[in-house]
Amino acid sequence: MLNVPSQSFPAPSSQQRVASGGRSKVPLKQGRSLMDWIRLTKSGKDLTGLKGRLIEVTEEELKKHNRKDDCWICIRGFVYNVSPYMEYHPGGEDELMRAAGSDGTDLFDQVHRWVNYESMLKECLVGRMAIKPAVLKDHREEKKVLNGLLPNSQVTDALAKEDPSSPSYDWFQTDSLVTIVIYTKQKDISLESVIVDHQDDSFRAETIIKDYSYLIHIGLSHEVQEDFSVRVVENVGKIEIVLKKKENTSWNCLGHPLENHNSFIPRKDAGLYYRKCQLISKEDVTHDTKLFCLMLPPTTHILVPIGQHVYLKLTITGTEIVKPYTPVSHSLLPEFKEPVLPNNNYIYFLIKVYPAGLFTPELDHLQTGNFVSVSNPEGNFKISILQELEDLFLLAAGTGFTPMVKILNYALTSIPSLRKVKLMFFNKTEDDIIWRSQLEKLAFKDERFDVEFVLSAPTSEWTGKQGHISPALLSEFLKRNSDKSKVLVCICGPPPFTEQGVKLLHDLNFSKDEIHSFTA
Ligand code: FAD
Ligand code: NAP
Repeated sequence: MLNVPSQSFPAPSSQQRVASGGRSKVPLKQGRSLMDWIRLTKSGKDLTGLKGRLIEVTEEELKKHNRKDDCWICIRGFVYNVSPYMEYHPGGEDELMRAAGSDGTDLFDQVHRWVNYESMLKECLVGRMAIKPAVLKDHREEKKVLNGLLPNSQVTDALAKEDPSSPSYDWFQTDSLVTIVIYTKQKDISLESVIVDHQDDSFRAETIIKDYSYLIHIGLSHEVQEDFSVRVVENVGKIEIVLKKKENTSWNCLGHPLENHNSFIPRKDAGLYYRKCQLISKEDVTHDTKLFCLMLPPTTHILVPIGQHVYLKLTITGTEIVKPYTPVSHSLLPEFKEPVLPNNNYIYFLIKVYPAGLFTPELDHLQTGNFVSVSNPEGNFKISILQELEDLFLLAAGTGFTPMVKILNYALTSIPSLRKVKLMFFNKTEDDIIWRSQLEKLAFKDERFDVEFVLSAPTSEWTGKQGHISPALLSEFLKRNSDKSKVLVCICGPPPFTEQGVKLLHDLNFSKDEIHSFTA
């Protein structure tokens, strides 16, 4: 709903559009691409019919605007006239009409909560809802100065009994250091669980606890140095963030609360936070795919969990465009060592550049030293499903290989029970195979790993496997060690490839718990 970026991909004629379920993707008319929409929004045309006025919209008023040619939708308390956007919506008019004259926040979140609709639809803004819609969260702010007391967390009323209990925080200081301690009251906490950003005097630490987000957001009372450290005491679920004071003076209080400070809300309701990262290098990997290296600011602590993705954001002709990408390791082999650079805060992406795409050509035009915004991680893959695994099967198509990179590295280095990892990698031609020589070297060096390439458009010289994902290919490839062995199949690629693969896996008697499919 209201998504623009990835829904316009792939092309209408492509097989990838033949989705067997889920969202319908409709071909857009000529002149109705995202770029055309951006041009229209910049044309100065009155898209709301209100001549630039913003109004307060009552629920009764909203309900009246429920026709294609007069369609208002509320998202997070803001009302948009989406009629002019109808023909540009890659998910189709009918999907947009599902929210006509109503609060579409939940529908929007179900599909792509990360899409930057504020920027996409800013010229369609009619105004605010006059009364607060139910989905708006109550983020009452503490007005008191943060002086080390433990205020009660602001927890949404919706928290059910089995949900994690509310975290809290405290702080203490020495002459030169300030330590902020977060008590998560959970045991499965790691360095990946906390994302810290501090800029000037603003300090932000988001802790992910199960499916919830706990935010510390403070305007610090004194200046601190750029670098800081994060420690986790796993068995008690305690996180310590140690800041270095700029001046060795005693602080009377930590600072003042900023937006949503001390809130504990479902992760899906927490907005995505972005920080600017610098492009360090861009290396050709295939004719159209490049390895991008970005450097996180020294004021950020973020470790993207294996199998999760982030969103990259660029402003394209004045509109913020956001697309998801999955960080990879620098290589599959230890001999391709990471370049030794002044600090080790790098994040790598394998990204295919589509000449007619919206986002990737812009990304490709960035020069070393330019900036791109990177969000906090998202995704539902948990490495705990790899524990005690014996057989791991990876089915990847095109850049669907990206989540497999870290999974493969982790499985081969950190899962002692692992017997076999097999990758079946689907591509159009030999030239499209990402890191082919690394994969072949890895298979040669580590007898637990096998790779098979399957090409859909090979040259006549190709002697390997051909075609698309099929029962014949899978049944031959997915041989369990024994009926009782613990198995996982991971699958990622164009959505119809993934949907078809999952169906085939069920037909081959793999259970739900034995399959992880990567989707947006
Ligand atoms: P788009 O503008 O989306 O276009 C892509 C192609 O479709 C182009 O060839 C374009 O010509 C064609 N097209 C688009 N609209 C139309 C139309 N209306 N008519 C005809 N043709 C059209 N990609 C990676 O490379 N690496 C990753 O690590 C990665 N991780 C991802 C993780 C997730 C969770 C998801 C969901 C996707 C991921 N992707 C990844 C894909 C990525 O998010 C983008 O979809 C991709 O980069 C294309 O973006 P684009 O804006 O350049 O192209
Ligand atoms: P591609 O090169 O176009 O296709 C790779 C292979 O998949 C080709 O052999 C292709 O065959 C085949 N294929 C395409 N559609 C198919 C279908 N409907 N059924 C069976 N096989 C099909 O792929 P790409 O351009 O790299 O795109 C990769 C996709 O992966 C994108 O959609 C991207 O969004 C997605 N992705 C998702 C995630 C994630 O969710 N975490 C991560 C990374 C990438 P043909 O020659 O017939 O096209």
